Amino acid sequence: MNAPRKSPSQIAREALKVLSGRGLAPTPANYSALYHEIAATPMGNGFPEAPLKELAESLPAQRQGERDALASLDAAIAHQSWKEVREALIAYARVSRGPADARRAPTAELKPADAPAGAARPTGATIEALLRLLESLLPLVEDEEKRLSGRLADVKAALKDGEAGNADAVARIALLHDQALVAAEEQAEVRGALLKLLHLILENIAQLSLDDRWLEGQVEALLAALAPPLRLRQLDAVEARVRDVMRRQAKSRERVLAARDEMRSMLATFIDRLASIGASSDVHREHLEHCARRIGEVKSIEDLAPLLNDVIATTQDIALETGKARDEMRGLQDRVRDSQVELEKLHRDLDHASAQARHDALTDTLNRKGLDEALEAEVGRMRHQGSRLSLAMLDIDDFKRLNDSRGHETGDAALVHLAKVARGCLRATDSLARFGGEEFAFLLPDTTQAEGIEVMVRLQRELTRDIFMHGADRVLITFSAGVVELEAGESGIHALNRADRAMYLAKRAGKNRVVGG
Ligand code: GH3
Ligand code: MG
Ligand code: MG
Repeated sequence: MNAPRKSPSQIAREALKVLSGRGLAPTPANYSALYHEIAATPMGNGFPEAPLKELAESLPAQRQGERDALASLDAAIAHQSWKEVREALIAYARVSRGPADARRAPTAELKPADAPAGAARPTGATIEALLRLLESLLPLVEDEEKRLSGRLADVKAALKDGEAGNADAVARIALLHDQALVAAEEQAEVRGALLKLLHLILENIAQLSLDDRWLEGQVEALLAALAPPLRLRQLDAVEARVRDVMRRQAKSRERVLAARDEMRSMLATFIDRLASIGASSDVHREHLEHCARRIGEVKSIEDLAPLLNDVIATTQDIALETGKARDEMRGLQDRVRDSQVELEKLHRDLDHASAQARHDALTDTLNRKGLDEALEAEVGRMRHQGSRLSLAMLDIDDFKRLNDSRGHETGDAALVHLAKVARGCLRATDSLARFGGEEFAFLLPDTTQAEGIEVMVRLQRELTRDIFMHGADRVLITFSAGVVELEAGESGIHALNRADRAMYLAKRAGKNRVVGG
């Protein structure tokens, strides 16, 4: 059976009676506790412990300073002290406003003056990687010259030995001259393109990403992509890739910074809100103390009535304000949580952009760096589990002819087609990498050599079914492939070389075939 509901003035009167009956001090806290006890309302002491705890848990704790401030916040919540909560949050806001990572040494030379706040500064390791990149570029551009001077020496030797007739020698020298001219022109363009690329990287280095990890990934990918012989087309592809990654990282970066600012401003609102709660409850406390004093002085029931009304109104105000503050805090806490989710998603996006450093942009297969890593992982796994691993090398037949007769774009489209069809023939655990121009490497875990050969034969068959189209023309892509199984104690690179030799034998034997090594 429910007791009849009491009116607020009945509750207030009873609260005052119980207050003096229990011999309690007439403080607002005691009065408020009794008021709610008698009214059986769940307001308790008005301290929103649970939402504050949740809020504290949803704040990022990446740095030591943040962790310390959050520990103080936990203690403040446990003490139910608004003052301590306020101080802990102010301390938190201060550390989270600090530089991206105080432990990082700034490198002034590489940081442009107008780098946005919060931009990463390259570490010594990154600069070292860039220097390595520069060093590795220089011999590459001279590669062609060395080859030409080698040929010149051959012609000279042939002339001296009287091995070549005069007409023949003149023809060979004329050819060499033409080749030298073409090479010189291309080398000049290659040098120009390299310089442009380096400028692009250096100019963007500070804005590239929030974290050096991603930057280093890019530099390493460039090193792998710039493997000799350098050709303009290859350099153009690298430049397009760098621009693409930079654009994507810059976009993610803007969003990360915006989400952080949003969190900071929410925290600031929260602190303001706390300050105003503190200030208004001071006013209420004073007012209630004043009422309590006057209650002690009143002589008649008529004098008590207006005072009681005052106390009730103030109590209701406190209840209202605390309720409002609690709702606001819940709202803020939800927004903090949303921002946190958004930040996590952005970090995943950036990780994904970084993973692109291991991929060939044209065919979306692994690049050399990606292949090296996959090879190391698979060889390690094979040793550990005693399982089998086969490797295959594939080289498209007469690809130069396809390029020459139908243009490089068609050649590129043929590479994309082959990669797509090959992926369809592979298991999820297999890896496919573009090894060079029109060469692909396959890593086939838990596969014997005979099974590996079957995979490559299946790919041959699929290419005759899923035929590559050039406009309305059907173009049959054929390839030569070598397949080997990794032997006990053999390195991954050694096995790849064996597969390459087997592939070469397949070429020598007339192309369009698969040979085991
Ligand atoms: P073989 O049957 O002996 O393998 O002859 P091939 O013509 O396929 O081999 P070769 O190594 O002489 O030529 C490979 C050609 O691949 C030369 C180069 O122009 C072309 N190539 C390399 N990378 C790319 C690329 O990314 N796109 C296009 N379209 N062509 C490329
Ligand atoms: Mg080739
Ligand atoms: Mg080829």
